[in-house]
Amino acid sequence: MADIQPLSDDTTTTGDLKRLVQEFIDERDWGKYHNAKDVAIAINVEAGELLELFEWVREHEISSLLKDDEKRCRLAEELADIILLCLNLASVAGLDVAETVSRKLTKNRMKYPAALVKGNYRKYTELRGQSKDNKSRGPA
Ligand SMILES: [Mg+2]
Repeated sequence: MADIQPLSDDTTTTGDLKRLVQEFIDERDWGKYHNAKDVAIAINVEAGELLELFEWVREHEISSLLKDDEKRCRLAEELADIILLCLNLASVAGLDVAETVSRKLTKNRMKYPAALVKGNYRKYTELRGQSKDNKSRGPA
């Protein structure tokens, strides 16, 4: 079994990670099970495992949860499970991760212009409506 040395975001590309995930799958001959539907379902299952970590945790307890070594380790592992599956889904679907993410960020920048949404959690459709209402009312 080949050990994987700890990698870093600063020196590892998404392509590198996709290749490592594919290698893991190929070594086990699991590719035949990894169709887009089943991988998407697995992402949701792992997201549920991530949520389980926060279930019933009060908002004021979150920062101490993140400092707890055992919980932090579990968070990292569930996050890694999700990322691994997302990389796998990108490969199965023939998507370039960096291109897909950058395209979506560009789309989100247009959907959520900083000038409109800065410091506001509301959905952009509500804010645009509010913006129109404000314009129709004129300056306050
Ligand atoms: Mg898991």
